[in-house]
Amino acid sequence: MKEECAVFGIHGSDQAALMTYLGLYSLQHRGQESSGIISSDGGRLYEHKAMGLVSKVFSKEKLDSLAGHMAIGHNRYSTTGMSHAVNIQPFLVDCKIGKIAVAHNGNLVNAVELRSEMEEKGSIFRSTMDSEVLLHLIARSRAGTVEEMVVEALRQVRGAFSLVFLLKDRIIAARDPHSFRPLSLGRDGDTWIVASESCAFDIISAEYVREIEPGEMLVIDGGEPRSIRFAEPAERLSRCIFEFIYFSRPDSRVFGENVDKIRRKLGRRLAEEAPAPADIVISVPDSSNTIALGFSEGSGLRYEFGLIRNHYVGRTFIQPRQDERDWDVRIKFNPVRGVLEGRSIVVVDDSIVRGSTMRKLVSMIRTAGAAQVHLRIGSPAITHSCYYGIDTPTRGELIASSHSVDEIREYLGVDSLHYLSREGLLSCVDDPENYCTACFCGDYPVKRKGQYSKDVFDEKTDGERDPGAKEKKC
Ligand code: SF4
Repeated sequence: MKEECAVFGIHGSDQAALMTYLGLYSLQHRGQESSGIISSDGGRLYEHKAMGLVSKVFSKEKLDSLAGHMAIGHNRYSTTGMSHAVNIQPFLVDCKIGKIAVAHNGNLVNAVELRSEMEEKGSIFRSTMDSEVLLHLIARSRAGTVEEMVVEALRQVRGAFSLVFLLKDRIIAARDPHSFRPLSLGRDGDTWIVASESCAFDIISAEYVREIEPGEMLVIDGGEPRSIRFAEPAERLSRCIFEFIYFSRPDSRVFGENVDKIRRKLGRRLAEEAPAPADIVISVPDSSNTIALGFSEGSGLRYEFGLIRNHYVGRTFIQPRQDERDWDVRIKFNPVRGVLEGRSIVVVDDSIVRGSTMRKLVSMIRTAGAAQVHLRIGSPAITHSCYYGIDTPTRGELIASSHSVDEIREYLGVDSLHYLSREGLLSCVDDPENYCTACFCGDYPVKRKGQYSKDVFDEKTDGERDPGAKEKKC
């Protein structure tokens, strides 16, 4: 599973661009491909965006050029639309209501149909992103006010969307009726902030206020934000349970819960379900650290740092053939021989996707002298692709879609392998019926129609992203 995207918006700050930059810095884990900020001084909009990490995209000069007391920002990991500069968000257009920009986290499952209809009628698109469809819907609306136009557009799209819009005089935030992706409201006096995760409030010393409600649109234009209900909340919400397993930072609050607390519970429950005859427990850093801590608490096994992660890894020029020598894993991780040698080890990871990286890691741990390797996974087996804003491979590439646990154990070369059960996972959250678990069972809460693929707008003949997937009930 790969990261998704981060959104941030701020209104009422004399350092709006700088605050947005800091917010995006804290949300870097949700997307590292590109970053952008658009600001407004109430009359003009200012824009800067580029490919790369936040630290590389923005300089002091660039930030100084982003004038105004309101701004929105975005970190992107592409889930629809290829990695082209034209697809960097926030996405800005000029239409009959003036300039409007959008930052989007999620995937619109009916974007292909909507876009095809609009193209038939002569619309011209600049990017290959599903988010651009939204701006076209707003621009085409005949409703009387800007807010009514946005409401009309939001009512036509389906799927996952946590959105922040910027107009010259206001910020509008909105969240889909299923609440797939997180989006919260924060404040610092008269300054209002919206962000994907609450760690973005902490870095600018703002306080967490609440989540944006399912089907709610918030208009922030001075004074208290105005709440508009554009849709009834879905009967059952579909919050992405993977936010707790992997995506969100442990110091964040998402879906009204502390991620660290839930992640520890996952580890404790895993230890209960699948104890292991071992000397110590180690994590695959950094995403599994907290689950491993929970496993240590639940099992009584000592938690040790058995793998060291290199935090300074960028893109490498390693080609697939060179990859056979495990360079990709060796660049990223190094085993601590003194910790592993002669010991029976529990290795805790958050999930297994293709299994190829884990196989190389296990071989590395064994080469470092581990006597036994027992692998424990803090989520159920991933058998289906995600269509709601997470970059997953096709179903055929997911090892658990076609192999039994024992076959996977053998392929990975571990002495034992256990996944957390779906029941165990859901027992760790307060209202389990309001979470999406489709990637573990194929019970897709918002059905797709017709073609859908990661790069569907780039290559319309791509067909179903996941032709083998059947939508089914868990
Ligand atoms: Fe999250 Fe999986 Fe549902 Fe996608 S399919 S929203 S990753 S739980």
